[in-house]
Amino acid sequence: MSHHDERTFVMVKPDGVQRGLIGDIVARFEDRGLKMVGGKFMQIDEELAHEHYGEHEGKPFFDGLVDFITSGPVFAMVWEGADATRQVRQMMGETDPAESAPGTIRGDLGLDLGQNVIHGSDHEDEGANEREIELFFDEDELVEWDQTDAVWVYEDE
Ligand code: GDP
Ligand code: MG
Repeated sequence: MSHHDERTFVMVKPDGVQRGLIGDIVARFEDRGLKMVGGKFMQIDEELAHEHYGEHEGKPFFDGLVDFITSGPVFAMVWEGADATRQVRQMMGETDPAESAPGTIRGDLGLDLGQNVIHGSDHEDEGANEREIELFFDEDELVEWDQTDAVWVYEDE
């Protein structure tokens, strides 16, 4: 099943937690057929925020982004499945919810670029998924399990 085991890092941001959207967002990935292999309700500190968003350091929105992502709890997750990183990004929509199609997570649940509900690893940034998983999760926090309905998701499972 090696080609079904791509992993990606996903996080419900503080606005999504405050608005009670964790369940909706988890349900979308479950419904799609992806498998959750890690989940952690946590508070991001300043240091982790700087590491996670390091690529944006120096940009005008960086300080606001760090304030926002550390402003309250997040729900960090690892989801596994075929082409998981790119598929999750497609489900998320565009970075700006105002430009995101209805049916996408940001297009259904957000209106504002700075508070856009969800983070997902960038599929165009090679290895970003693995780096982010490692930054947020210890190896023993990731669970290996058989998703019994995978035979109905993947033809060749
Ligand atoms: P993502 O991968 O789609 O989340 O987008 P980026 O990696 O480009 O940016 C990371 C996060 O920074 C976004 O999800 C937004 O929360 C925030 N962000 C990006 N660009 C802007 C901006 O121009 N203004 C503000 N206020 N926030 C931004
Ligand atoms: Mg990004």
